[in-house]
Amino acid sequence: MTVMSCLKVPSSLPLPAMKIIQVLPVVFLLFADCFALHDHNHWSIKRDDNSASIIPVRREGRTEYVDASAICQMLDLDFVHDMNEQYIICLPRTPVLMYSSGSFAMVGADIIHLSSPPFESENIFFVEEKFLFDLIYRYAPGQVDLRYDGRMLTYKSPEADILSVQCIEEETGVRYEIVMARNYAVNVIPLDSIRVAIEFKDVRITPGLTSGFPDENLPVRHSWSQDSSSLIIQSDYLIGNIHQMGPDKGNTLTLRLSLLKNGFAPRAWDQGKSVFDEIQDAMDSWKIDKIVIDPGHGGKDPGAIGKSGVYEKDLVLALGLTLRKTIKSRFRLEVVMTRDDDFFVPLKERTSFANHVDGKLFISLHLNSITSTRTRGAETYFLAPAKTKSAMKLALKENEVIKYEESKFDYVDLTEENYILLSMAQSQFVKESEEFAALVQEKVALRTGARDRGVDQAAFYVLIGASMPAILFEAGFISNPDEAKKFGTEKYRQKVADGLCDAIEIFVNSSSSSER
Ligand SMILES: [Zn+2]
Repeated sequence: MTVMSCLKVPSSLPLPAMKIIQVLPVVFLLFADCFALHDHNHWSIKRDDNSASIIPVRREGRTEYVDASAICQMLDLDFVHDMNEQYIICLPRTPVLMYSSGSFAMVGADIIHLSSPPFESENIFFVEEKFLFDLIYRYAPGQVDLRYDGRMLTYKSPEADILSVQCIEEETGVRYEIVMARNYAVNVIPLDSIRVAIEFKDVRITPGLTSGFPDENLPVRHSWSQDSSSLIIQSDYLIGNIHQMGPDKGNTLTLRLSLLKNGFAPRAWDQGKSVFDEIQDAMDSWKIDKIVIDPGHGGKDPGAIGKSGVYEKDLVLALGLTLRKTIKSRFRLEVVMTRDDDFFVPLKERTSFANHVDGKLFISLHLNSITSTRTRGAETYFLAPAKTKSAMKLALKENEVIKYEESKFDYVDLTEENYILLSMAQSQFVKESEEFAALVQEKVALRTGARDRGVDQAAFYVLIGASMPAILFEAGFISNPDEAKKFGTEKYRQKVADGLCDAIEIFVNSSSSSER
């Protein structure tokens, strides 16, 4: 350390003054111990709750580094070192990803070159101090006051949005009471059979809520993830009811969520309808009157390419047009297409378009491809975490189209592990989607004689977000020259369309007669 570095020498001072200042450090050095003004070998961090800490500065060559984890801890920011050797500073909405000795950092969606790469030493991750503190100054949720010359940081933590979470035992199960400072958009997302995520958009939680275990005797556990602003509740209980109350005297709102033991029915709370009642109502009035056909790929994305050079995008468009014509001639159903020509449609827009036009059944058309030229047949997928390796592989391949899209960062990595994306709406239709998928397989095989490769589930981006039963139909293998040739003929495409229409007929009739 040098005392010199702490003193700013204004270059505009007249010469005599410059001289005095240049002498000063020497004087300071002599008396530094006695005065003990600032030891600039460390950062002093102070918080508005009066806690404080000293973080040492480590010098490597001409660069000064600080312990990123210690600083994050002081500011209630999550710091993650994951299995892929990534170091992540979880600044809200702008996570910062770095590697040890990596000269690039990802700041939100931007990639930034680092002239002084961070490094790991004895399990401490050191980041160049200026880079780290600038990030904190810009993106930390609270109010940051920075003084580089005295290496001082004062932090005023942000107002919490989620004030408390209570878990209360009841005869029928448990009740959660979540007190919120304001009204937030809340999403309830079933993750699997035992976990449900309550997702709040862009909220700040009271520090200390980050982990919490209700009474050990209750079969309920919960945890917060500040990064995704969600409360994850794990239990064998069923979701009964969710209801928002307030604002009360303190202007706070309370979100009530009941989780029920098996055999107990949800009880109506207070006034108004719950989210679940509304979904039930919507499903009761469900009537399939509009079908969305989604020919895969298009434009700059050719999809899979056959041995003869034929493109998946062209064959599935032709099939989609035949299907539209056939549906219109057989039923009094409306048909809309996500594309009826050779143009590119981003995956996300396909389902948002389907929702926008109020579609009731979503059919995405594709052709499969594999290295073997002999594999043939049709298979149908519906949206759920992939159960088999090959389903996973196919999902990865169909999802690959994202590389053609401009805003990649809207798509979260859809591996089995972080499969947290099933929207509430879609999960309501998993059963219907699976039923329709089975019908498609059966009827198309009957009409075409194509090998029935069965129904499978996988996580396809194109199906996510569709608020209606949705399937992805791999009508055949473009990698099989015989099958690719068949799809080049209108005669064969008509057979496939007839099979799809047979399935639609049964599906539409069963869903209107069951009076759901
Ligand atoms: Zn495809």
